[in-house]
Amino acid sequence: MTTQQQLIFINGEWTQAEHGKTFEVLNPTNGQVIANVADACVSDTKKALQAASDAQPAWAALPHTERVNYLHKIAEIVKTMNDEFTEALVNEVGSWFGKALFECNAVLEEFRTAAAMTYQSTGEILPSANGKTSMLMRKPVGVVSVISPWNFPTLLSARGFAPAMALGNTVVLKPSEESPISGGILFAKACEQAGLPPGVFNLITCSRDNVADVGEELVANPIVKCISFTGSTAVGKQIGARAGGLLKKTCLELGGKDAIIVLEDADIGLAVNAATFGSFMHQGQICMSTERVIVHKNVAKEFTERFVKNVEKLNVGDPWEINKAIGPIVNKKQLEQIIDQVEDAKTQGADVLIGGTHEGPFYHPTVISNVTNDMKIIQNENFGPVAPIIIAKDTEEAIAIHNSSEYGLSSAIITADVARGLEVAAKLEVGMTHINDSTVDDEPHVPFSGVKNSGLGGHGGKASLNAFTETQWVTVTKEPHYPPFFEES
Ligand code: NAD
Repeated sequence: MTTQQQLIFINGEWTQAEHGKTFEVLNPTNGQVIANVADACVSDTKKALQAASDAQPAWAALPHTERVNYLHKIAEIVKTMNDEFTEALVNEVGSWFGKALFECNAVLEEFRTAAAMTYQSTGEILPSANGKTSMLMRKPVGVVSVISPWNFPTLLSARGFAPAMALGNTVVLKPSEESPISGGILFAKACEQAGLPPGVFNLITCSRDNVADVGEELVANPIVKCISFTGSTAVGKQIGARAGGLLKKTCLELGGKDAIIVLEDADIGLAVNAATFGSFMHQGQICMSTERVIVHKNVAKEFTERFVKNVEKLNVGDPWEINKAIGPIVNKKQLEQIIDQVEDAKTQGADVLIGGTHEGPFYHPTVISNVTNDMKIIQNENFGPVAPIIIAKDTEEAIAIHNSSEYGLSSAIITADVARGLEVAAKLEVGMTHINDSTVDDEPHVPFSGVKNSGLGGHGGKASLNAFTETQWVTVTKEPHYPPFFEES
């Protein structure tokens, strides 16, 4: 990692932002500046979109096998850049070393799955009552804007742009200002090295000061036909409303308040492990993090004791150290949100069983009991290493507590009775449910999406296919017939 200036990538060329401005990226572990990055403005964004638009017809016209080759080539190059991605993931967003390695491997599957998707981009032959040959042709939408978050920046940027490109679209990617290198710049280098035609992949980076204007351009510019957004519910709703008004396609992957439900017949060891991983992996900064632990009253005491004991073992510190699974919180704003919610719960009578304190950017893994459903810690996304335990008197109450959230992304059910688990899963208002596992799970071919305030549409598998393509009804008629008035006599 260098502190040299990082540029944006438009039409196959590296360039400074038009006004020559840059912004600093800080390492959350020690506050040091790790990069100065181009702070793009609206005119840079327009140029990137124009380049994408110019490149799109030729890219879409390539045999799909050639696009497949490019995607595999990018994957091979990304693989050779494993050290650079890992370094950026640890230094930019405080990823624990193990999480960074996992993300680097998972992203390769994103490219391979995207390449495979080109073979599934098929149309249909429809029946016709009028003897026509009636077809549904599938086409790329055109230019896609991809806006990604900082928490899994490598994976979540690729999840947007790789399938979009595979299906014949061109893209402008805007990674988070917290993670411009791991979420964008390294991908631009890989695309350049792969010899991707200029304009197919473009990269815009900008600071929080410019993001409202740049974001507006990425949504409202008439060139843009689809917006792939992963981030907070607040920003996602703004983008959804703006895009909806312009009748543009969106896939919106937003926040969560995911719950693990521990039923009375649960294997408690399994429940403890799933809740610990789900709540504390990447300091709880995953959209699918377990943010509510709902436990049946008959097993609550045993679960709580064993959970707290397990959480005690988690080491906090420099994420480069393999045994320090809990790294820093990404920035001051996030840290303040965590502190505020925990303090609010305490003043309302909640008990902190472990944690509840921080040293600099390191918030200690925290378990809270005696919480009520109206507390901020239960209602709002926390995005930190905090696990509140809610006791349910029976399964029906556990389901009701689960569904009382405005969010509905992922969930988990721990039970010895899989049939019962499936019955409970069917009653949850949520996009994803994992029985006897944690709330955190993802595979690139699976449609990943939330309901309620957790999103609309989604990425992965058929969801990406539908998001990044559109259909056109085409018919061929042998003998057209019209009412006699309209036909030549
Ligand atoms: P964020 O909404 O603050 O930022 C996300 C992206 O949007 C960033 O690139 C940011 O620069 C950009 N952005 C901010 N304001 C914008 C605007 N006005 N117009 C256009 N773009 C704008 O979210 P974040 O803090 O980066 O990420 C954390 C959030 O993302 C959490 O809520 C988390 O749950 C959610 N998330 C969801 C998923 C999912 O798949 N559902 C995955 C990861 C993260």
